[in-house]
Amino acid sequence: RAKELGRNNCQFYTPSMNESALERLRMERHLRHALEHDEFVLHYQPQVDLRTGRIVGMEALLRWRHPERGLIPPNEFIGLAEETGLIVPIGAWILRTACMQNMAWQAAGLDELRIGVNLSARQFSQKNLVDMVATVLQDTGLPPHRLDLELTESLVMTDVDHAIAVLNDLRSLGVQLSIDDFGTGYSSLSYLKRFPINVLKIDRSFVQEIAPKSNDAAISDAIISMAHRLGIKVIAEGVETEAQCEFLSRNMCDEIQGFLFSKPLPAKEIEELLREGQRLPDHLLRLH
Ligand code: C2E
Ligand code: MG
Ligand code: MG
Ligand code: MG
Repeated sequence: RAKELGRNNCQFYTPSMNESALERLRMERHLRHALEHDEFVLHYQPQVDLRTGRIVGMEALLRWRHPERGLIPPNEFIGLAEETGLIVPIGAWILRTACMQNMAWQAAGLDELRIGVNLSARQFSQKNLVDMVATVLQDTGLPPHRLDLELTESLVMTDVDHAIAVLNDLRSLGVQLSIDDFGTGYSSLSYLKRFPINVLKIDRSFVQEIAPKSNDAAISDAIISMAHRLGIKVIAEGVETEAQCEFLSRNMCDEIQGFLFSKPLPAKEIEELLREGQRLPDHLLRLH
């Protein structure tokens, strides 16, 4: 009878923890475990210069190699990593791994490339972010101009003055700064000139809608010429078709990234692709 009461007492706590809260706790434990047991892996997606057709950079994209569930895409766990703060140590690992990999390709005799790394809001608000980046550059020997940190519009728009200060500090290290997913947030082009950024990445949702005479085509065109006038380079994300690529070339976009050229791939496969010297065919390049 006493035992039964005890059990009931225990049960008292369970209704407050619904299924999803438990699932969250489980996931958080697994994320921690994943970091400690090397279950994260970076894939890399080439960024191709529309003048030469050659690979000039890579974006590092996180995956979780789960022992039971296989390869898990970032959208399924980055949010939780962000909420729990685990993105901070995971992000530090990402930056170091990406910079090391880039140096490894160079050491293997391949072209010198730029490496893009996504920064999360939580990382961006860390006081030691600039020191962390400086340390990784020093430890890996990667020349700063070959690191490209990608930030989203919403991230820099939450506290514009603070963001500008941090971006300036990062710029003083010599790294490049990109605005990722441009066009999905609420920022206007006029804001751009306040931020010390080097690159705009036009979001995939824009690129997908691109067709001559469509509204989005006019918008992409406007974004590209405005960016250029501000001395900012433009990379189009999620380029899947030749038609999209031709349009972007005609409108003087600088680089493309997307399934048309290559999906994100493990480092080994990227190395093969680099060795083969694969490039975009001439008819998709900018005229010059
Ligand atoms: P993102 O930074 O905008 O990355 C581009 C995403 O578009 C990647 O998805 C990539 O696989 C996908 N993509 C590229 N080309 C194409 C295409 O032609 N068609 C289609 N349908 N998709 C394409 P992924 O790898 O699933 O990453 C999703 C998002 O997760 C990223 O968006 C980024 O916001 C976040 N993420 C990925 N890796 C990291 C990371 O290391 N750190 C942080 N903080 N966030 C990351
Ligand atoms: Mg990105
Ligand atoms: Mg993006
Ligand atoms: Mg995105």
